[in-house]
Amino acid sequence: MARAAARAGRNAQSVTLLAVTKAQPPEVVRAAADCGIEHFGESYLQEGLEKLDALRDRALTWHFVGRIQANKTRPIAERFAWVHAVDRLKIAQRLAAQRPPHAAPLNVCLQVRLGDEASKGGVAADELAGLARAVAGLPRLKLRGLMCIPPEEREAARQHAWFRELRRLLAALNGGGAALDTLSMGMSGDFEAAIEEGATIVRVGTALFGPRGG
Ligand SMILES: *Cc1c(COP(=O)(O)O)cnc(C)c1O
Repeated sequence: MARAAARAGRNAQSVTLLAVTKAQPPEVVRAAADCGIEHFGESYLQEGLEKLDALRDRALTWHFVGRIQANKTRPIAERFAWVHAVDRLKIAQRLAAQRPPHAAPLNVCLQVRLGDEASKGGVAADELAGLARAVAGLPRLKLRGLMCIPPEEREAARQHAWFRELRRLLAALNGGGAALDTLSMGMSGDFEAAIEEGATIVRVGTALFGPRGG
């Protein structure tokens, strides 16, 4: 991460490592926290909640990075600090209504669908501005930025192109009056390209912990 930041002339501190611990047991989270990692991501709600409970004694910041089902928003709103994959207004409205009033605002990223892969979820680029405006107006949420899971690319140039597109979309929103500061992009296979294109959060699982279930 530091080398990629340096290549782009960026301060390494401007990129947060979000350790994605899905399929990893609580002991692995604890060991990673002992190494100084503070941000942890989970994709499956039940599994994630069990780990939050098991790690209650640690001051960690939990991110929900998976797809969000409308009937399961309440525990996300109550227990997590960030959600990365909001792609519908209905989900954001439920999270806003269910965020406890005494808690800090829930940090929200909108997932953008790049490359027409309908199976991956995300809002289409041409519907992004409308969704961003609506979500920014909801109480108890803080719209922070954009997230993507681009098609898997082996070629660095093609990885760069997807991430540049997400950065362009963020800049367009900010040009229209938004004040977004977060690009959640880059996973184990492409986090270096993402950092070079401006990622502020990289979501890394297997590169830290090895293959899931392996
Ligand atoms: C699993 C997952 C990751 C981490 O993927 P790796 O390839 O293991 O680094 C990142 N983001 C999301 C949304 C995930 O579901």
